[in-house]
Amino acid sequence: MNYRHAFHAGNFADLLKHALLIEAVAALTRAGPPLTVIDTHAGAGIYDLGDVPATRTGEAAAGIERLLAEPKAPEVFAGLVRAVKEVRRRAPRFYPGSPALIGAALRRNDSYIACELRPDDHTLLKQTLAKVGGAEAVRADGYETAVKRAPAAGRTLVVIDPPFERADDYQRIVETSRAVLGRNKAAVMFIWLPIKDLDTLDRFETGLAAVGAPGFLAELRMRPLDDPLKMNGCAVAVLNPPAGLESAALTAAQWLALNLGEKGALGRVNRL
Ligand code: SAM
Repeated sequence: MNYRHAFHAGNFADLLKHALLIEAVAALTRAGPPLTVIDTHAGAGIYDLGDVPATRTGEAAAGIERLLAEPKAPEVFAGLVRAVKEVRRRAPRFYPGSPALIGAALRRNDSYIACELRPDDHTLLKQTLAKVGGAEAVRADGYETAVKRAPAAGRTLVVIDPPFERADDYQRIVETSRAVLGRNKAAVMFIWLPIKDLDTLDRFETGLAAVGAPGFLAELRMRPLDDPLKMNGCAVAVLNPPAGLESAALTAAQWLALNLGEKGALGRVNRL
């Protein structure tokens, strides 16, 4: 496992994922029963954008720093902008990953299981979540943990955000979604994926749609898909989405394409 999210934290793909994740968690914690969140690929939890990995790639400079400098960004980014500003009151150069964002949004009776396999990032994840009540940082395979520990009933959100270093990640996402929804058919599955070529995306979309839950896939293409070796964009797919998330996804993907993308960029949403 070579992937470290520190090189990519705060890039365009994080902006789409984290803006929508904040909206999803807010909708699921606004009122009602306790929420269980299982985060299959949690990463370190929070990132120092002044450190070598982030400065070497410059991805955060082209991502979150541009969003923060844009006073007219749509409402869908407001939660993310607020969360980053809140973190930066204490640690000026930092960017919150999913665990910090989820941890800050949970209520006292909600619970959070965050999985990370890399020992170094797992140690950092434990530190990020040390003061979050109801949160657990486990060093275990995220797919297996989701299948084993997703509750059979009750409000549940499963976040799947793998590094896609392995060819079977697409298939494991579909299998995990099918297994979790087979037990708890109302569980919300929140999935991030890269867009390199259209064939891979189409096959994944068909496989996920066959799971049989209602949902959408929001595509953000940052440039035409001419070079399949590059990450040309990203997508967020959500099964059993909370009300309003699909239109928020369209607004976010279109704004990012227009403001951060290259010529030929586009944002769109397909129903699954
Ligand atoms: N979700 C994080 C965020 O948005 O802040 C970023 C996660 S990063 C894209 C993917 C992480 O998954 C890496 O830190 C990697 O070490 C970890 N990982 C890879 N395979 C895993 C597995 N099977 N189970 C749990 N973690 C895994």
